[in-house]
Amino acid sequence: MSRPWWMAGVPFTCQPDCGKCCDEPGGIVYLRPEDAKIMASHHEMVVEEWLERDCRQTLDGRWVLKSDPVTEVCIYLDEDKKCTTYQARPAQCKSYPFWAENVRSDRSWKKTVSECPGLESEVAFIIDGDTIRRKILDDRDASRGFREWPPKRM
Ligand code: SF4
Repeated sequence: MSRPWWMAGVPFTCQPDCGKCCDEPGGIVYLRPEDAKIMASHHEMVVEEWLERDCRQTLDGRWVLKSDPVTEVCIYLDEDKKCTTYQARPAQCKSYPFWAENVRSDRSWKKTVSECPGLESEVAFIIDGDTIRRKILDDRDASRGFREWPPKRM
């Protein structure tokens, strides 16, 4: 199998005061069981209560973060476009823009570059290939999600 193009490293630095990737009406954040534990602990809640309060289940039963009923963006994004749970944010948020669906094709990557100013920033740092691979795997893991608590897998 040939080496993926991103293994050579990709320049990226998340831009302060941007928040574009979170400010996406209808966006879905899938969760790994580890994410639910970290988020619940961050909010000083037990996981079941946190899931009930801040999450919902998709039609196929996977737990995802709730969106604001009016704006349809993530409930944790405040008026200044800042994440109010940044320190505990789920893996899928941490791994953006290096999602499996974004690096899948030239076309999807070009779209991602057009949407994320951090990929064209003049002050971007090179993210090395191993780090990118970890992010892609975390995103895939999160997309599989979990449907019950406690989950069958951890
Ligand atoms: S769109 Fe890119 S630069 Fe903007 S907040 Fe998201 S990751 Fe950072």
